[in-house]
Amino acid sequence: MFRWVIGVDLGGTQIRAIRTDLGGEKMARSQLPTEAASGGEAVVERIFTAIEEVLEKVEPKEVIGIGIGAPGPMDGDGRIYDPPNLTEWGDISLTERIHERFDRPTFAGNDANLAALGEHRFGAGQDVDDLVYMTVSTGIGGGIISGGRLLLGARGYAAEIGHQTLIAEGPICGCGQPGHLEALASGPSIARNAVQRLAEGASSTIADFGHEITGKSVTEAAKAGDELAQELIAKAGFYIGLGLVNLIHILEPQRILIGGGVSQAGDLLFEPIRETVLQHVMSPIYREVEIQPAALGADVGLMGGVALVLTHHK
Ligand SMILES: [Zn+2]
Repeated sequence: MFRWVIGVDLGGTQIRAIRTDLGGEKMARSQLPTEAASGGEAVVERIFTAIEEVLEKVEPKEVIGIGIGAPGPMDGDGRIYDPPNLTEWGDISLTERIHERFDRPTFAGNDANLAALGEHRFGAGQDVDDLVYMTVSTGIGGGIISGGRLLLGARGYAAEIGHQTLIAEGPICGCGQPGHLEALASGPSIARNAVQRLAEGASSTIADFGHEITGKSVTEAAKAGDELAQELIAKAGFYIGLGLVNLIHILEPQRILIGGGVSQAGDLLFEPIRETVLQHVMSPIYREVEIQPAALGADVGLMGGVALVLTHHK
């Protein structure tokens, strides 16, 4: 009787929902603006609408479950703590509310954790059980699969791999602490470095790649051959590599997958990452780790929601 799974992703400015079959084949999708400023209750209503849209012509009882991912720390009840892009959120349990409305088993998780699950079940990590997923975009987040299971920590807040301290007196991170990886290698930090170098008189075409300088414009300039942009991407790659060395020593993953907008720089980013790892691991036994691009692109959070449901479905 069970035929469908629903994934919901609250990342960015959009609420996105997807319905797949039990093998992850995409059958329907919907997208609505989050309009976060309208407050938590209004966002919950729009989440309901997005789910209703992918349920069209389907019996809700044929759905094995709904999996929802959101940015920022979120516990297993779908309570988001201090959501970065959802102001006026209030004390809302998303799993409780969605379950009340649709009467289906509902599961929630941090979107980067779910992305790791998604890549493990449907993407570039299907054949390994020890996997680190890292996304490098406006922030740096991640998820860890260890021994085939998502590593959650005591309350579900583990794997904030972008907030490892690399320079004790480094630049201030979005979280307020100094020298975190995110403050050294995210899109905005790459853009900030570009702005500074240009102000110092560096010669570069970066300003031609968009009306303002962003991680995306630096990435595009780097791919077009701009030397300063390539240098800035390589520097980000160096710090990402250092962060991965820490994770490799602690977790010994077989594979590391990197997604997010900055990963579009391709080998310009991946080569300095791999070089840094080779140079900084404590022993050659750690050099065998595979460092590769993630596979699921913009759908990684949605497929992570689907994977989360399937994880609970015995
Ligand atoms: Zn931080």
